[in-house]
Parts: sequence; structure tokens; C-alpha cells
Amino acid sequence: MTDETPYARVAVKNGELAKRLLQRQHLLDTKRRILHESDTLLLPLHQDASLEEVTQALGNLLLEYGRREIPVKRRGPSTIEEALTGVLPRHLLHLLPRAYDAVGNIAILEIPRELYEYRFEIGRAFHSLHPNFSTVLCKRGAISGITRTRDYELLSGVRKTKTVHTEYGCRIAVDLAVAYFSPRLLEEHHRVAAQVEDGESVLDMFTGVGPFALHIARNHQATVTAIDINPHAIALLRESLEMNRLRGTVIPVVADAHQYVPANFDHNVDRVIMNHPSGASQFIAEVCLAVRGGGIIHYYDFVPSADAKNRLREKVLHLINNAGYEVAKICTVQRVRDSAPYEVQMVADIMIG
Ligand code: SAM
Repeated sequence: MTDETPYARVAVKNGELAKRLLQRQHLLDTKRRILHESDTLLLPLHQDASLEEVTQALGNLLLEYGRREIPVKRRGPSTIEEALTGVLPRHLLHLLPRAYDAVGNIAILEIPRELYEYRFEIGRAFHSLHPNFSTVLCKRGAISGITRTRDYELLSGVRKTKTVHTEYGCRIAVDLAVAYFSPRLLEEHHRVAAQVEDGESVLDMFTGVGPFALHIARNHQATVTAIDINPHAIALLRESLEMNRLRGTVIPVVADAHQYVPANFDHNVDRVIMNHPSGASQFIAEVCLAVRGGGIIHYYDFVPSADAKNRLREKVLHLINNAGYEVAKICTVQRVRDSAPYEVQMVADIMIG
């Protein structure tokens, strides 16, 4: 029958070798898909590939020779420009997004204003090129408000904003609609966690859904008090605590750090993480009351990109001295990521005197 294709069944573990052997004899039909059935592969063959030729090519790798319907490979565009040529005006193609954020199985696109009316076409084209995502969203507006969240619009796939994101094996429950999370802070979460030592008492003052706290407690026998004013963020952190095997302890707290920190700490914290770059400078008095002499503060801020290191160094010295405390040492000042044109998010690791 003409709609049936001959195939060679081989064990998955022999798949690569069998493909090479069949290709060498020009027997493999590369236009058709390879089918996967339990621990075997069905390699599609040209119509005239006989049992004798296939047996000769594969020897005892061949488990079965047969015929069945095998679909041809889907052929389509390989880039978003290709997919949208003829759909978008040609002069706009160069504005198509080249990067995206992946949060769990959700992809997030940033659509330039000029392309806004084509956002659904762009979302669908992106999704057909990246079918592993269940959902494609686009950002609507800026991060804002006390909870540092933004709106998203569904472009393609399943309507959802909740997912589980994995960083260095750490599983993090995220709901983009109700609590802050950025996959771009992955290396920063890891960098800070790597500095923690077993036995430390850590205060994560603006924990969000808790990525710093989770990275730390996954790797160290430390106690992390993880505070956020947003109850949705802390509810998500509680979900993550159920999903990870931790060496340390995380104490999730819904509270305003202005009140909670002075009421609960008195120069007895080894390390404080202040990852709230638009607001951390308002909490210097509280943090200085909490941290012990010789303890470390990881302070984050948005700074104009020109001379960013010196600007941040001067700012933290001024803030801490103004609060009546001494800086023993500024251990590190470095860029975390670009946050806006001509502006960067920076971190300073400061040892308090
Ligand atoms: N550390 C988080 C991370 O790495 O994903 C980022 C958190 S986000 C930039 C800042 C967080 O500060 C938000 O989750 C917000 O709800 C929280 N926040 C704002 N004001 C606060 C306050 N007064 N007390 C405690 N948390 C606050």
C-alpha cells in the first residue's frame, strides 16, 4: 500500500548507530518522522528498502522490519521573521522580539509599541516555533506598586499565570499575576546563597516568592526569616517549601519590614538580603538594628549606568553613616542587570562595623 512506509525497529539505545548505518546505505527516509514506542524507535525507510538490505545494514540491531503509516516531518519556518513574513508589513519585521523570558512553562514576550496590533499573530508564531511552552504572555505596562507586579496578556496557549520555575534544581512556585518574580536574577540568587555558611541566621527582608531563601536553605543548614508584605508571595513560598528538600529552615512571614524587623531582631542577624531596589534605601535604619557587628548586608538599588559602581559605593556609605552606623568594609559592588535605558540594577555586599 502506497500510504504505508517500511520501517526498521531498533532499541532506543542503538538509535544513533542504526540511523548512521541506514544513512550510509541510503535506506533512511529523512523526510519522515522517527516514531518512539516504549524503549524502541521506528526508523522510516525509503519505499524500495528491502528486508534483505536492511538486515545487511543493521545486522542484529534490527528488532523488526515492517510497514505502517509514518507521517512526514512538519515543515515550517524556523525563525519568527520567517513565520511572519507576509503577515506583518516588511518594514516592521526588524522590530520583532529576539529574546524572551521563560518562567516554568510560560514564555513572556515584550512587544514593541509599533507591533502592538500584531501581538496575537506574533504570539501564535512564537508558540508554533516553541511548542514546549504551554502559555505565551506579553508584558503589559511596567512593574509597579508596593508588591512590584505588572499586568500580562495571553497571546497563545493555556490561560494561566501560575507555574513552577526551576533554578539550580530549586523548585519555585510562581504566579506572575500576583507576586514578583524575575528569572533574570538566577545568578544573583545563586551568588548570594553560595556565600552563606551553615549555622547562619539570615534575614530576607523582601523575599517575594522566596528564591534567595529557597536557594540558601536548599544548600545550607541556615535559618532564613523570609518577609514580604504581599500575602500572595508568602503563600507561594509556602508551596515551594513543600516541593523542595531543604537542609536549612525557612520561616515565612507576611509583614511590613518597617515594623517586623525592629520588633524581632536586635543585632543578632548574620546576613540581610535587601533585594527591593526601588525601596531598599528606606529601610537602612531597620537593617542596621538587625544585623550584628561583622554581619553582611546585600543591598540592591537602581543606579544611572554612568559611573554606577562609585555612585552606589557613595550612596551606601552615606545611608549607613546617616543611620549612625559604620561600614567596616564594602566587600563587592557589581552590576546585576540592566534595568532601563541608562540605568542598571546594582548590588553592594557591605560588612557592618
Ligand atoms: N527578593 C525577590 C526575588 O529575588 O525575587 C524580589 C522581591 S521584589 C523586587 C520586592 C518585594 O518587596 C516585593 O515582593 C514586595 O511585595 C516586597 N515589599 C515591598 N515593601 C515591603 C515592605 N514594607 N515590607 C516587606 N516587603 C515589602
